[in-house]
Amino acid sequence: MNEYYPRDALKSPRYTGIPTFMRLPIETDPSKIDVALFGVPFDSTVTYRPGARFGPRDIRVQSALIRPYNPELRIDPFSKLKVADIGDVETNPLSVDETIASIFKFVDTLCSHNVVPIAIGGDHTITLPILRAMKKKHGPVAVIHFDAHTDTWDDHYGVKLSHGTWLRRAMEEGLVQGDKTFQIGLRGQLFTPNDFDFAISQGFHQITSEEIKKRGVEYLVEQLEPLGGSPVYVSLDIDWIDPAFAPGTGVPQVGGPDSYEALQAIRGLKGLNIVGADVVEVCPAYDSGNITSVLAANLLYEILCVLPRAGQG
Ligand code: MN
Ligand code: MN
Repeated sequence: MNEYYPRDALKSPRYTGIPTFMRLPIETDPSKIDVALFGVPFDSTVTYRPGARFGPRDIRVQSALIRPYNPELRIDPFSKLKVADIGDVETNPLSVDETIASIFKFVDTLCSHNVVPIAIGGDHTITLPILRAMKKKHGPVAVIHFDAHTDTWDDHYGVKLSHGTWLRRAMEEGLVQGDKTFQIGLRGQLFTPNDFDFAISQGFHQITSEEIKKRGVEYLVEQLEPLGGSPVYVSLDIDWIDPAFAPGTGVPQVGGPDSYEALQAIRGLKGLNIVGADVVEVCPAYDSGNITSVLAANLLYEILCVLPRAGQG
């Protein structure tokens, strides 16, 4: 067993006495690890219910019960990958620009050490600077975007950067391969009938929640086949999942997949060349019995299991 392993759920973490993601050790030296879990406590660009800045804190606590072995995939990712909690990105709740720059620098450093970044938000804007670092490392990436919302609006309240516009900005900056971008779980009312026009014009593949419900998760996984070996970034907005299973979020939309379908979908990513990921928009203040943070912790675990070097299934 390597040093970077989840500790027993009922014992104190070995190094700090404070909660860490999955009770993993804290590691501040990226040259020693393969995968970094880190928090991005920032929610100053939300359009509705605030509070996702406290997502990392609650997910650390609720991830205490994560155990190492995945019987469905027959994988123990911790036996193949050195995974650690490397703390939080420094954020400034009063400066979007400063925070964006800080996130980029943090992830860029990880990339320079060939560490796979896995971010825990925070609101969805945090994905934009991560994609900037991804592009610097890998060139424009394919994106699998699990979300009830398209996040390709041009502006909200006249402001160009928010958690509803980051993906459009990423396309405009050339960070993302449009024809290799999949938006999964779209649903809910739009502002106008034209709200998907930008995404469609960029060649995005859109799979609505309705289609997943009618055709199953297997259909969804089949659609991802064209990704082949392209570098893929996975961005998971927790509001992708039905608010009955994930109420703790800022812009809930009814009629989404359940927690089992979500696990199945992540397991279906096995074999893809995933180079980074995030789980965002967990907002503990609106949670009920911590179920959203527990689900987020499990989805993070499943993401670890489908990383390219996590093991054989
Ligand atoms: Mn959303
Ligand atoms: Mn989103």
